[in-house]
Amino acid sequence: MSTILTEAATEKCSHGGTVTLGPGDGTLTIDGKAAYTAAALPSTSIASCTNTNAPCTNAGDPGAALLTVNKSAVLLADKLTTGPAGAVSLTAVVTGAPTYVTTD
Ligand SMILES: [Zn+2]
Repeated sequence: MSTILTEAATEKCSHGGTVTLGPGDGTLTIDGKAAYTAAALPSTSIASCTNTNAPCTNAGDPGAALLTVNKSAVLLADKLTTGPAGAVSLTAVVTGAPTYVTTD
């Protein structure tokens, strides 16, 4: 099972950096918070990553494809990854995500 990532959640990279995704898609809301889709990934910013050799700069979600909104894959809280430019492979730390789930 996977938890749908919404604007209610807080995301950090595995080095403690603060991940700021682009806006969620209000077409799908959970507890009044918009779900994040792949459309939010290109405008992701990550601040204060402590991995100075290869700081995280982008995020991805290899599990996102189970559910789409406006033809964009809904991001899953337990699948979100971060990494340096050109690579996303580290599991992000997500807190505050709602308990609603999808099945996979
Ligand atoms: Zn990092």
